[in-house]
Amino acid sequence: MTTALIALVAASSILIQGGTIVDGSGGPAFAADLRIEGGRIAALGDLKPLPGERVIAAQGLVVAPGFIDAHSHADGGLERDLWAKSQISQGITTAVVGQDGSRPAPVGKHLANLKRLSRGPKFAAFSGHGGLRREVMGDDFKRRATAEEVRKMSKLLDQDIREGALGLSTGLEYDPGHYADTEEIVALARVAAKHGGMYISHVRDEGNGAMESFREVIEIGRRAGLPAQISHIKLGTAPVWGQAERVLTLIQGSRNDGLDITADVYPYLYWQSTITALSVSREWDSVDTWRRALDEVGGPAQVLLTRYTHEPSWVGKTLAQIAEATGYPAPELIRQIVAKVHGPGGSGSESVVVTAMTEADLIAFMKHPQVMFCSDGSIAGSHPRGAGSFPRILGRYVRELGVLTLEEAVRKMTSFPAQRFKLKDRGLLKPGLRADVVVFDPKTIADRATTSDPTALSVGMEWVFVDGFDVWGPKG
Ligand SMILES: [Zn+2]
Repeated sequence: MTTALIALVAASSILIQGGTIVDGSGGPAFAADLRIEGGRIAALGDLKPLPGERVIAAQGLVVAPGFIDAHSHADGGLERDLWAKSQISQGITTAVVGQDGSRPAPVGKHLANLKRLSRGPKFAAFSGHGGLRREVMGDDFKRRATAEEVRKMSKLLDQDIREGALGLSTGLEYDPGHYADTEEIVALARVAAKHGGMYISHVRDEGNGAMESFREVIEIGRRAGLPAQISHIKLGTAPVWGQAERVLTLIQGSRNDGLDITADVYPYLYWQSTITALSVSREWDSVDTWRRALDEVGGPAQVLLTRYTHEPSWVGKTLAQIAEATGYPAPELIRQIVAKVHGPGGSGSESVVVTAMTEADLIAFMKHPQVMFCSDGSIAGSHPRGAGSFPRILGRYVRELGVLTLEEAVRKMTSFPAQRFKLKDRGLLKPGLRADVVVFDPKTIADRATTSDPTALSVGMEWVFVDGFDVWGPKG
């Protein structure tokens, strides 16, 4: 090779030198250098810089595969933030979207659009059952689908999977998915099974009915014959707090029976959604519905209003504070908010952050080998998980609380979701795989986002490479 040619090759390659390799397999960390070339991982070992090669000093830093967010909403708002900074600064290089039954467009078109827009993360997507239902049933969705409608949804789903969808997602707590019975989902899940796809679900009830809801996921996996995953697993009301071990025994039992059941989890004790998610009841005009719902999450101080277009001055306050300021009892406030936004002729939007999980349950879920990590976050959402999830796991739960080892935490962010979603070209630091690589400081990595500043960027992530391009570095 001529000198000129060597220099040319070297200029396109990057050497990350002197770091600690956590390769994503779960195996012990080791010291090594890593070379990126042509968008792929080229070599791992004791490497010397080539002439003219770009060298990144990684002494004291961890070098790991880019993180795969198993449940993401970062496809929304990408056109306003092409770098998806809140995700990239966490080290997320692949976001798995189309969750909770959402399907903003046919999957092939949606993925192509995301690929065209994104300067940062790559995307993978599920075909969302709610979107399929909307397309086939329109506004007439408050009922079971007919056989003909299921046939039409199956056809759309089939097409989505041919265009790259990973399988079927549902959001059975939300409209319009809520009105589907198990039969309808099994019929659709069989279409996903036929193509080797999987089923992933935001279950019907993450509160009092959680155990029943998790059983439904397992039943769908069994009857449709496909792998199934519980999205952002949680126990979100007082009557089911402390039952994580029971849930994990249920999952483990199903695995022992030969089923392939997994879950993902985000590292916060509060959820964010529409205020209607406080109750699975559809009796939204009854004050009793909301009184019971508030009791089950520990009262109105647990509910923070993060968006309400009809009364912006209430945003940022808890229902307890709004009740005190207005003189309306909190259950009545919810009834009014729901009526104005979701009732007949409703308009505008609302959103709440509800503190409703215990850390003991969260930690039990995080530790289980069949539970991977997700953010459930958005690019500019009002829940801090959108900007803080992965650094929060590495900071609070690995470094500070020692809940799991760094190697195991990284496995749950990389090779585990890569295997689960059949993303065969990433998830490990192995020569030949795509160069999705993160370099972070294990001593400082931490989340900064809070409910009052939910998009504050995390700290400690030094470098992020996607397909060999640095999309995040010391210059930000
Ligand atoms: Zn969800």
